[in-house]
Amino acid sequence: RQPMIAIDGPAGAGKSTVARKVAEVLGLFYLDTGAMYRALTWFILKSGVDLGDEPTVAELASQCQIDFVNTPSPSVFVNGEDVTQAIRTPEVTARVSAIAAQGAVRAVLVRQQQHYGQRGGIVIDGRDIGTHVFPDAEVKIFLTASIAERARRRQVDLKNLGQSDVTLGDLERAIAERDRQDSTRAISPLRKADDAIEIKSDNLTIEEVLGAIVTLYQA
Ligand code: C5P
Repeated sequence: RQPMIAIDGPAGAGKSTVARKVAEVLGLFYLDTGAMYRALTWFILKSGVDLGDEPTVAELASQCQIDFVNTPSPSVFVNGEDVTQAIRTPEVTARVSAIAAQGAVRAVLVRQQQHYGQRGGIVIDGRDIGTHVFPDAEVKIFLTASIAERARRRQVDLKNLGQSDVTLGDLERAIAERDRQDSTRAISPLRKADDAIEIKSDNLTIEEVLGAIVTLYQA
């Protein structure tokens, strides 16, 4: 297969922004695995089942067809319905980690991710790509930033979406809670792969992070 780039890290570190640009610059595909867990969480919330009912959640996971479409703009579909905006709501964000902790859910989505990336030539971002989904990825990045910086960036994003009523403290707590759930779950928890290169982005621009990853890929 062609080489690939795996970008893992905690919530709000800028993985998807950077991964999308890296893919654009290098002419690679881009797969946002967080969007897959979000899309499934949206589907489960819509169905009204108890999130802790693992057999039913597993059944729904097998009925949830997730598609990525790039034109006219990057979009995510669940069983043909455009959920691009719907998977970014606070409701989905608050519950996605509980769904992503379930073994049957991960088995279904990881299989799809491995199928999607099997030919390489792709940038994949998530929590367990370098450790579990593609442990043989040629370039592995662990992208982090302090909680304060991640909350600050998130607040800027929300302001741009017209939501200026969320405090930094609330954002910090929500981010810290998601980090806690993602890094303490039993199955493929969030962690840096031993051979991943850690980039702490607090004092770096998107272009600087982009440049560092492109250089690593071309080396
Ligand atoms: O990257 P994003 O913040 O959109 O991911 C949403 C959630 O999906 C994460 O908080 C995590 O619970 C889950 N996730 C995961 N494994 C991945 C990608 C995301 O468990 N590879």
